[in-house]
Amino acid sequence: MNPPETHPIVIVGAGAAGLLAGIFAGRSGTPALLLETRPQPGAKIRVSGGGRCNVLPSIAELADFHTAGSPRSMRNMLFSWPLREVREFFERDLRIPLKVEDSGKVFPVSDRSKDIVDALLRACHESGSRIRAPFRVSSVRADERAGTGFLIAGNDGTRLRAERLILATGGLSLPKTGSDGAGLRFAKAMGHTIVPLHPALVPLLTQDAAWHELAGVSVDVEITAERDGRAAGRHPGSLLVTHRGFSGPAILDASYRLTGGAEPPTELRVHWGDVPDWDKELRAGGPATVGSTLRRHLPRRLVTRLCDVAGVSTEQRLSELPRDDRRRLVEALAHYRLPVSGNEGYGIAEVTAGGIAIAEIHPATMESRKVPGLFLCGEIVDVTGRLGGFNFLWAWVSGRRAGEAAARTR
Ligand SMILES: Cc1cc2nc3c(=O)[nH]c(=O)nc-3n(C[C@H](O)[C@H](O)[C@H](O)COP(=O)(O)OP(=O)(O)OC[C@H]3O[C@@H](n4cnc5c(N)ncnc54)[C@H](O)[C@@H]3O)c2cc1C
Repeated sequence: MNPPETHPIVIVGAGAAGLLAGIFAGRSGTPALLLETRPQPGAKIRVSGGGRCNVLPSIAELADFHTAGSPRSMRNMLFSWPLREVREFFERDLRIPLKVEDSGKVFPVSDRSKDIVDALLRACHESGSRIRAPFRVSSVRADERAGTGFLIAGNDGTRLRAERLILATGGLSLPKTGSDGAGLRFAKAMGHTIVPLHPALVPLLTQDAAWHELAGVSVDVEITAERDGRAAGRHPGSLLVTHRGFSGPAILDASYRLTGGAEPPTELRVHWGDVPDWDKELRAGGPATVGSTLRRHLPRRLVTRLCDVAGVSTEQRLSELPRDDRRRLVEALAHYRLPVSGNEGYGIAEVTAGGIAIAEIHPATMESRKVPGLFLCGEIVDVTGRLGGFNFLWAWVSGRRAGEAAARTR
């Protein structure tokens, strides 16, 4: 049998993280070979942001991300490339004009995700890195006989050898874009710990049928994610009641807090409407009824539902509302525990939370602490951002760092 074709760096996955790794490996003097399942690389970038690609946030803090690992390691990984410089990379280097919308999200001025993909592919090509697609990697293992490097098999029988390997295969979300968790299996087989996975940025389900009847109701809320009774994050935005549960930006954003595994469970508490202090509002109501006062701020069907939850009649005059009734109503209006029974799953989720434990990765290089020569980046790693361009920011930053470091490692 002929020896397998050998490459200094092979990158599995030409999505957001893989393309950045390819560009920066090439620019650092060691062009890479990227292997991609899908005929067209960057499938998830193409569909992102409703086809507009929310490429970055305008501001990013550590609190916008979640990991089961050490926040300090995550900080070292995340802020190795300051947000201002990432933006300059897109605007000056790739020559894609960007705009910041009122929501704080950054999009290409053209509103076309294709422009981002095209520019990344061009930069990757100019760096000397090459993409082989479609090429599905079916197995990866350390080359134990040689004592260094990796053996890679494609599902068409092709065999390759890599001196250094970058896994950038993404998670499990939206499998039609090529992500089926293969890279996570490869990493696990090579000794890595996988923090339990779960869908995130995903609509939530409820078994409480009374909510299903409110399908179509949309309202501004602030959701507080509480763990052990303490606020772990606040998520303002709109909430949409669906036939199966809850969706809308505030829900998608809060959903990544519903962590799995050994972490304490998280509850989502909802403050309905834009009234800052519901207790004050009810006390000021005078002779008006509960229903008429609430309907000034909330949709009629929601008012009926929340009064049912609190066990208070909509016809009750506020001036005659017993103290206990007011307390229960304020609880329902300002601190309602959302009855979540699950989520819509990976088919719909924007990201996969969990992944390769960051304690097993060198923050300065994204190289595995378990397998020298193996680099890990993007969604495959246990770092999840909230809604608003944070997940791409993680993919760009970690991909660049892995590519540069792999190119410089001998
Ligand atoms: C509908 C949707 C909209 C989104 N919108 C946004 C947004 O606007 N802003 C934002 O920040 N984030 C958004 N995200 C999340 C964002 O797309 C991901 O976080 C990001 O793409 C992760 O980058 P990645 O390179 O790690 O993984 P991916 O982009 O998923 O890339 C992984 C690549 O690896 C390839 N691959 C997998 N297994 C193999 C294998 N065995 N062999 C060869 N290739 C393989 C896949 O085909 C894929 O191309 C969205 C996600 C979805 C699903």
